[in-house]
Amino acid sequence: MKLNKDVEVIPGSPNTLVYQGRVVVDQGGKNANLALNAEVQLATHGHADHIAGLLDKNAKIKYLPKEDYWSLTLMGRRCMIYGFSSKEDKYFTFDLVKEDLRDEFSETEVKKVKLQGHTPGQVGYILGGVLYAGDSFFGQKVLESFGVPFYSDFWKAMETLESLKEIIKGVEQVVISHGPVYNNRKKMEELLDFNIQFNLKLVQKIKDLITNKERTAEEVTYLVSGSKEVTNLMLNSVTVKSILMGIANEVKVSEKGIVYAYRSP
Ligand SMILES: [Zn+2]
Repeated sequence: MKLNKDVEVIPGSPNTLVYQGRVVVDQGGKNANLALNAEVQLATHGHADHIAGLLDKNAKIKYLPKEDYWSLTLMGRRCMIYGFSSKEDKYFTFDLVKEDLRDEFSETEVKKVKLQGHTPGQVGYILGGVLYAGDSFFGQKVLESFGVPFYSDFWKAMETLESLKEIIKGVEQVVISHGPVYNNRKKMEELLDFNIQFNLKLVQKIKDLITNKERTAEEVTYLVSGSKEVTNLMLNSVTVKSILMGIANEVKVSEKGIVYAYRSP
């Protein structure tokens, strides 16, 4: 899908952006093996579905934000998405790239904006008037099926969402990785707002669940998750712990494990 004379988006999850046929952002997922003849390969962050392009031997310039260099190894990528690594297992369904990346990254002229929270180092790229905002926010269906957005630091991600309201005013179009592609900036502003409201409701829901009641992060994760599959619960528990630490005013250890509560004054 062409957004303007210079920018094209190849739909997928992630959506892959191509600028002037030579700069590629977030080649991965089902687009991982497309021959795009990129001179420049950029990844917004280190998650396995965004980094296949960084393995492209013909690209002259490759960039991954430094704070996401945990992505160089499979173990690092597992730790940042599931919270730990282990032996091969069917539940590690996000291990889309198994090989190690080589530390061959260099600076790029492409304008970057910090979009931290989803990962420690996520950046967005502005190319030809289009902001590619990675996994800073998500399509409605993605949010509703998971029930919880993936944010290593939920509170940092919320600051990023606020900053995006301003950043978006300075560009013509916005593309995110997992969600529909709109040619219309207004629709993306509405989707950003939907994400903020969704997250505020999630915080309230979690606060209600632990008000004068002790619950483990696992219990809370189960109760707020859409799909209750093992892998989804592993991912959602990362965000839920970040949220719980921000709202519980009592954290202690019981025979169930760490329990969180909000004691209303
Ligand atoms: Zn991601």
